[in-house]
Amino acid sequence: MKISVLGSGSTGNAVLLVANGTRVLVDAGMSAREIVRRMAMLGEDANSLDGILVTHEHGDHCGGLRVLIRDLDCPVFISAKTRDAYVCESRRVGIANDEPRKRSDALRDRTVEIDSGCDFQIGKIEFHPFTVPHDAVDNFGFTATHNGVKVATLLDFGHITTLITERLRGCAAIVIESNHSRDMLKTVEHYPWELKQRILSRLGHLSNEDVADWLVNGFDGQAQHVVLAHLSQRANNPYLAKITAETALRERAPLFPASTEVTLSFPKEPTAWIEI
Ligand SMILES: [Zn+2]
Ligand SMILES: [Zn+2]
Repeated sequence: MKISVLGSGSTGNAVLLVANGTRVLVDAGMSAREIVRRMAMLGEDANSLDGILVTHEHGDHCGGLRVLIRDLDCPVFISAKTRDAYVCESRRVGIANDEPRKRSDALRDRTVEIDSGCDFQIGKIEFHPFTVPHDAVDNFGFTATHNGVKVATLLDFGHITTLITERLRGCAAIVIESNHSRDMLKTVEHYPWELKQRILSRLGHLSNEDVADWLVNGFDGQAQHVVLAHLSQRANNPYLAKITAETALRERAPLFPASTEVTLSFPKEPTAWIEI
């Protein structure tokens, strides 16, 4: 199995998973053209996608979905609540009035309904969706298994729950949000107080410090790769995020020799393939 974060951050998120001829996209938050272009950079054809999974309806996770599926045949795996919210979301954020109808039309007969705790299969990959705490209507993290190898994609969520810690056990690669440095977020000038409170809340976004705490206290040390995702461009610094995670890994080193590699993902370019 191999995985690439095609792009991640508040401007758009998409993760590509490939195993034995099966290709699955988790989220389509960049423009369709950008997703197709970045897949091509990795030698992959978007037409060969076997499925698109949607974690939640926020624009940075499904803003490119409608246009992307127009030219593709693959189904969209989405919960009923997220589907409804996705169709209506554009009304709330003031996109053109006919966008809800276009979204509804685009998804007609194209969706497979998913539910937290109900595993499903796409080609050769088995997916296990589970609920994560965030402020959209129905929020998912996923683990994906192929040939006994498990990987996780865990984008927007506000805190690590017992369920999340359990689901991440035994993963060979983990894509996890490391959104902000708490100190940097507090001093960002451009964010109104309400936005800062939202990001810091238990239904907001995971901080570098939360990731470090999980790496010391919750992580089982099995993953060869931890990929930091959804880094804020104003309230984080990629190298600070990486050093915070690496320092946490070293803290646990006496018990678990640190063979885990921390990789950064970026808003504007895909990561190299991470092969497991
Ligand atoms: Zn979100
Ligand atoms: Zn997001």
